[in-house]
Amino acid sequence: MELNKKQIYGLIGCPVKHSFSAAMHNAAFTHLGMNAEYKLFEINPQELKYFFHRIIPLKDINGEEFSYNDLHGFNVTIPHKEAVLEFLNETSSAAVDIKAVNTISVYNGSEFKGINTDFLGFTRHITEMDVNTGKVGMIGAGGAARAVAYALKVKKALELVIYDQDNQKAKLLARDVNSWDSTCSAYAVDSIEALNLYDKTLLVNASPVGMQDSDPLLISEKMLHKDLFVYDLIYNPSDTKLLMLAKDQGLRCRNGLKMLLYQGVLAFEHWSGIDAPKEAMFEALKGEINASDNT
Ligand code: NAP
Repeated sequence: MELNKKQIYGLIGCPVKHSFSAAMHNAAFTHLGMNAEYKLFEINPQELKYFFHRIIPLKDINGEEFSYNDLHGFNVTIPHKEAVLEFLNETSSAAVDIKAVNTISVYNGSEFKGINTDFLGFTRHITEMDVNTGKVGMIGAGGAARAVAYALKVKKALELVIYDQDNQKAKLLARDVNSWDSTCSAYAVDSIEALNLYDKTLLVNASPVGMQDSDPLLISEKMLHKDLFVYDLIYNPSDTKLLMLAKDQGLRCRNGLKMLLYQGVLAFEHWSGIDAPKEAMFEALKGEINASDNT
């Protein structure tokens, strides 16, 4: 193997160009003086198997081409988090239960190991804030919600009530949660009101509602109470309408920026086996948010 060859890491998905991951990981490589670079690879669903079989050229979004031999690890985003499972040689048990992988390392040259650091990132953040995860209401039942649900299992939540505009999806997630070996009992409801937030300790928004200025506020003031922690997975904008309402009411609340940071920190550590420079990565993320606020 050629010594001192630059290691390539990256993100596969479609689209990828709005991702903050390159800034975060490249800040870490620079901080540690590593000869490595993180690139964005736009791979559409038809191309995915050709990517894993190394049939299509490995080109980043700027058209620069790389050798697959230099690719040591990569993240996975929409729409491939579930689809990649069939190409992996090894998958963590959490990722199998969640049915989604967001971090893959390449070993023995061309074998792949997949894990889910979204769930680990959420777990680390709520643990750090000492959030009471006893009874939880959640909006959304997509990929991120599945990772949150697994984190809640790990945190030994007692009850998880799920609302999604697609009730079938909410029911499927509740069924999966109930099939895991856990203390948590989950069920799906068909309206926001039926989340019954009055007896919940945590509300999680794991839907994309709130990303756009024109998005509605799904929760009304009267549904909130002072002992409810509100966690919005959205990090851009930093303050969604939901978080502004929670803050106005004096509730504890957070956006998903630290979850994003921690999933990146854990991916970095999974690839490199060394402690990630968390502060440098966080500064890079905040820089990206500020830059996007000003565009
Ligand atoms: P996803 O797979 O598309 O899932 C979103 C789910 O929300 C879908 O089931 C969607 O239903 C549902 N939904 C949409 N509008 C709704 C509404 N008005 N009421 C109830 N449910 C609604 O997306 P995802 O990957 O899970 O991501 C969800 C959010 O989490 C995004 O904002 C993403 O940026 C954020 N996220 C943050 C982090 C982090 O690190 N902080 C990590 C991952 C994701 P349909 O399928 O019918 O549209």
